[in-house]
Amino acid sequence: MGLELIELERKLIGFDTVSRNSNLAMVDFLENTLKGFDLRVQTYASEDGRKANLYATLGPWDKGGLMLAGHMDVVPVDGQAWETDPFTLVAQDDRYYGRGTADMKSFLAQTIHTVEQFRHKPLKLPVHLAFTYDEEVGCWGAARLMEQLKAHDHVMPACAIIGEPTNFQVFRMHKGITSAKIGITGIEGHSGKPELGVNATYPAARIIQKLTEIEAERKNHRSLEAFFEYPYTTINVGILQGGTAVNIIPNRCEIRFEYRSMPGEDPQYVLKQIEGFIDEIVRPDLKQRDDRADIQIEIEYRGAPMELRPGSEVERIALELTGNTRSSAAPYYTEGAIYNQAGIPTIICGPGDIDQAHRPNEFITREQMDRGLPLLSALIERICL
Ligand SMILES: [Zn+2]
Repeated sequence: MGLELIELERKLIGFDTVSRNSNLAMVDFLENTLKGFDLRVQTYASEDGRKANLYATLGPWDKGGLMLAGHMDVVPVDGQAWETDPFTLVAQDDRYYGRGTADMKSFLAQTIHTVEQFRHKPLKLPVHLAFTYDEEVGCWGAARLMEQLKAHDHVMPACAIIGEPTNFQVFRMHKGITSAKIGITGIEGHSGKPELGVNATYPAARIIQKLTEIEAERKNHRSLEAFFEYPYTTINVGILQGGTAVNIIPNRCEIRFEYRSMPGEDPQYVLKQIEGFIDEIVRPDLKQRDDRADIQIEIEYRGAPMELRPGSEVERIALELTGNTRSSAAPYYTEGAIYNQAGIPTIICGPGDIDQAHRPNEFITREQMDRGLPLLSALIERICL
């Protein structure tokens, strides 16, 4: 006898897998549960050994098959006004509350519950469960999982579905993310003697102004308007820090910004523009004042956009089974970019609403919980049986 869906969900929500914590207790539980359902289970540790990816296969493991993918980590609950314990599943008024109910432990529970129903069926192609760590802090687990599968000579899955919360809409693309830190070094001095110092905040102002100009220019290069609410590359300066007192010329200023680049565009475009502006104009101006002054750019994160070509088999089947007429774009970043780059055609389609994700009192509706099971069964039947 398998575990009932809600019992599974209760168990998964009970593990505090906030990204900064170890997920090994959850991985242990999943490994034992899935081995009990006759799956071949591999766990692959993170570099520091505090976390692990889990890769479990039902059916012939020397063939491609279908990968059902999701992340095990959740975002923190610190400072959020929860009315219930976020790590205890609470059922109320056709909703289930708890951290991870929408993003995205309900999908994991649905996949586990569903594969158990197939354990005695003769699958022609395998179904794999690929559960990762550290998605919420940079998709590090997924990137490592792809390396680990290749290193252990796994046959790569022929297609994948990531069950991020889409209310069972089908997404086949999303924007990329690049973030960078620009550090400006000036020369400090008394505010009354400006020529003795180099103010580090003034170049920061010029750079930020340039970033707004680049964004305005990108806004005129719209593409994929049917798919995106903001069909152009957006830029956000998120952190600006510099100076210590009004009578001191600041010797340091730091800008941290990110941009979300459209599929089909050069993901380096914004970076190249701002680097060019700094190299040709801002740094030479600064150096002219004092050679000790300088500007450094450090890339903090690079995530490619995701774009699966239209008309793939996995997209077609997912559209048909969910009753959608067309696929669209996710308004957020996912591990799909990494899986697609690894050569696995991937779409995003899962239970729950992204509007509930990352919030206090996160929930999933009973309807979304129940709807996943027949859909996943039909999917496995179509692709693997
Ligand atoms: Zn997620």
